[in-house]
Amino acid sequence: MAILMDGKALAAKMRLQIKEKVEALTAAGTEPALAVIIVGNNPASRFYVNNKKKDCAECGIRSIEKAMPEETTEEELLAVIAELNADPSIDGILVQLPVPKHINERRIIEAIDPKKDVDAFHPENVGRVMIGQYSFLPCTPAGVMEILAEYNIDVAGKNCVVIGRSNIVGKPQAMLLLHKNGTVTICHSRTKNLAEITRKAEIIVCAVGKEKFLTADMVSEGAVIIDVGMNVNAEGKLTGDVDFEPVSKLASYITPAPGGVGPMTRVMLLQNTLKAAQIRAAK
Ligand code: NAP
Repeated sequence: MAILMDGKALAAKMRLQIKEKVEALTAAGTEPALAVIIVGNNPASRFYVNNKKKDCAECGIRSIEKAMPEETTEEELLAVIAELNADPSIDGILVQLPVPKHINERRIIEAIDPKKDVDAFHPENVGRVMIGQYSFLPCTPAGVMEILAEYNIDVAGKNCVVIGRSNIVGKPQAMLLLHKNGTVTICHSRTKNLAEITRKAEIIVCAVGKEKFLTADMVSEGAVIIDVGMNVNAEGKLTGDVDFEPVSKLASYITPAPGGVGPMTRVMLLQNTLKAAQIRAAK
């Protein structure tokens, strides 16, 4: 039976460490601050933004919210971003995605000052991840790497399979595993013989978005399983991508979902905001 990798507990531990650093930085004259912009009334976005504000409050990070109506124009949103870019008291800027369809998401991401881009979605930060010289890492893959480190799982030389190639999870995840000297295969919807590939994996990161996608026949005994997926099942319950019960009988380590990668994603945003404030303080 696999050892459960408790992302919730690790995130709580990290929040305490972040809080201490935030308090010290604030006492020394630099109060870390995150600005969160939300456009429209998407209930999921509202939920995520509220969580981000709550997390900031817990760690002593000042958070400000810019709530804008659904009909906000791209130019109006860009103007708010420009204002926050110019505000020296703001360390991190985050636009909650998705933005309404009439707004060009790419243009919005690229308008954020890369030094304040605590989501690490700006092309400059994406490039920095590629070359391994970064200030910020994208929160979900960075959270996964923290979990692996916490459980002393050495990536070097291991066969790592990432399922999913999105810009925010799969691709950067593969790069971070590569930086740790993993031998990385990226799989996606056009991959042939997926189960053959995953059965050779010693570490699998599954980021697809389909309940019970990773089944026991796709996993070798002793594999480390990271479940990034976040799905709502037919009973309205939050689930991951992994068929948990049977897979956990084979795996050596596994993340639960919920309670694995999700809380780590949240805490990495705080970590990035703290980092941005530390850079400001060092100037
Ligand atoms: P995404 O942009 O929809 O990407 C999903 C990926 O899965 C795509 O690359 C897609 O391949 C691949 N895929 C789909 N069907 C497949 C199949 N049959 N075989 C192999 N690959 C397949 O999603 P995302 O933003 O990366 O997120 C993935 C999941 O993680 C979602 O459930 C999301 O909610 C969750 N998530 C969780 C957290 C967290 O904090 N826990 C954070 C971010 C995301 P193609 O590229 O070929 O289409």
